[in-house]
Amino acid sequence: MPNPQVYIDIVGGIEGPSVYINDIRVAGPKPWAGGALLHHFLVDVKDIEDALKGSNRSVATCIVCSEPLDAGACKNRRCRAFVQD
Ligand SMILES: [Zn+2]
Repeated sequence: MPNPQVYIDIVGGIEGPSVYINDIRVAGPKPWAGGALLHHFLVDVKDIEDALKGSNRSVATCIVCSEPLDAGACKNRRCRAFVQD
């Protein structure tokens, strides 16, 4: 399958909207009593993968050298004393 796609649904419920990917809820409260389908998107998996790669840019960074932290600590030895948890 060269161009796989998934359905992303926005469902409105009494406690607020929720997000489903291929009928699996990934965000928002469980819509009791079924809920109402507000939006129905057919999305390229490639676009989701690109978005997830972009999320790597927002990982926590060292307060001294701004490098991405590795398991909460800077890889630069000189920074370790300054890195905050
Ligand atoms: Zn650092």
